[in-house]
Amino acid sequence: TPTLRLILGDQLNYNHSWFDTIDNTITYVMMEVRTETDYATHHIQKVVGFFAAMRQFADWLQLKNHKVLYIKINDSNNLQSFESNLNTIIKQENIAHFEYQLPDEYRLDCVLKNFSSSLSISNEVFDTEHFFSTRNELGAFFEGKKTFIMESFYRTMRKKHDIMMEGNNPITGQWNYDSDNRKKLPKDHRATTPLLFSSDVALIAEEISKTTIQTIGKIDAKNFIWPINRDQSLELLQFFIAECLPLFGSYQDAMSPGQWSLYHSRLSFSLNTKMISPLEVVNEAIRAWQHNPELIAYNQLEGFVRQIIGWREYMRGIYWLKMPEYAKLNFFNHQEKLPDWFWTGKTKMNCLKDAITQSLEYAYAHHIQRLMITGNFALLAGIDPDEVDQWYLGIYIDALDWVEITNTRGMSQFADGGIVGTKPYVSSAAYMDKMSHYCGSCFYNKAKKTGEKACPFNSLYWNFYDKHKDKLSQNPRIGMMYNVWNKMKPEDKTVLLEQADYYLKNINSL
Ligand code: FAD
Repeated sequence: TPTLRLILGDQLNYNHSWFDTIDNTITYVMMEVRTETDYATHHIQKVVGFFAAMRQFADWLQLKNHKVLYIKINDSNNLQSFESNLNTIIKQENIAHFEYQLPDEYRLDCVLKNFSSSLSISNEVFDTEHFFSTRNELGAFFEGKKTFIMESFYRTMRKKHDIMMEGNNPITGQWNYDSDNRKKLPKDHRATTPLLFSSDVALIAEEISKTTIQTIGKIDAKNFIWPINRDQSLELLQFFIAECLPLFGSYQDAMSPGQWSLYHSRLSFSLNTKMISPLEVVNEAIRAWQHNPELIAYNQLEGFVRQIIGWREYMRGIYWLKMPEYAKLNFFNHQEKLPDWFWTGKTKMNCLKDAITQSLEYAYAHHIQRLMITGNFALLAGIDPDEVDQWYLGIYIDALDWVEITNTRGMSQFADGGIVGTKPYVSSAAYMDKMSHYCGSCFYNKAKKTGEKACPFNSLYWNFYDKHKDKLSQNPRIGMMYNVWNKMKPEDKTVLLEQADYYLKNINSL
């Protein structure tokens, strides 16, 4: 039967069983369409990165003698949506059967379900063969439970997939090494220089510039830094294991001006596009530890494995359990707009300037910058989670709805009221100073709560707790903060709240 198989831009799984056999009756189709470039204002590196990786994947398929139809963004026959292009191809090629892989995004899942049911030809859906868990596994695991503790899901994943286990127990007798990890970077410590690729993607950048697609951020299209195929992804993995894994856990929460990726893997783009699999990433890390436990201590390894088979799978499970409602949750009823400098980096707050500037430059910030710098600020400033989501969904090379929204709306903005996290991730300048070297050279004074040059995080922090006492004071993990707040002199409270009010009213000039 003449069969059409759709491959989405984040389904570049070189090891998928679809490609095991060459079959001339099967046509693979891939397409660059405006529905995908326009659902958010993406970073230019993100659009270029996806198109480049897709084109390389199509070339690889063709080299393997698979039959491939590739529709480029400016092709005259491109109807700019999956359904329209698919309908045309099905007619033109006399297709009698349609197949696709489960999309990771709720929106596309609906699109393709509707499309399939509208077809008069037969159709079938396949797994992407990428994740450790199925879409609904987390939902089944927590069935009947009110809380969704990541740690218990993580342990179950470890057991089920026999990862660093001895029978039913963790290999070292200990599950969690968080207390050994998360150190501040020593002063003057320079982390390894990141491995950057230098692919020439100028042609794609030029094609995009000929369209009306809106983008943000910068690109050096002659020297594109992100991996765009499986070989580069594997090279980045090997670089990470040799150069970064030995200190990954120790400094996973550290921040330092100008050091934009520290010991992080920057594998999220390769993983989210499926150019590499979480299984091989985890296996390689474990192998390296087994081979050289002096170089890679177990706490570093565990810290990394936890991100991949813990957090990543957990977020995906939450997404499928809670969508589509999740995308609308706004627990605090926050309504404000993001300040303009989120698109320029032009703020006097050193930490935000650094995190935003590097995001515009590289389409990347590491986890703790996303959570405790930009996310923390947005939450303290009462920004509408829709705005926050759009920003994160656009700016990062790895941003795909399933993992962006659960992290942003859930973990970072607490807009889900505590599904993903047990309390909001907010902090004053004290945390920034504890974990980073930002404060020393900042325009603002980390130690001041009010008055000239007081760090905005300090007053906004107390303002946040004061504003949301109805919703938060009963939370056992936060009660202590309210004890501190309640003991403050009323006049001190007033000055603090006035300071916060002043900053919020002048948010664009912070
Ligand atoms: P590393 O620090 O090297 O971690 C290794 C891998 O673990 C990552 O590649 C990633 O696959 C996985 N991982 C780590 N933390 C998480 C997490 N919280 N959730 C899911 N996977 C995780 N991640 C995305 O992939 N896409 C997003 O759009 C995204 N948006 C985020 C928005 C906010 C507000 C926050 C706080 C986090 C977000 N994350 C997102 C999670 C995390 O920050 C990124 O996965 C990570 O920074 C990617 O860089 P890395 O590959 O160097 O990660």
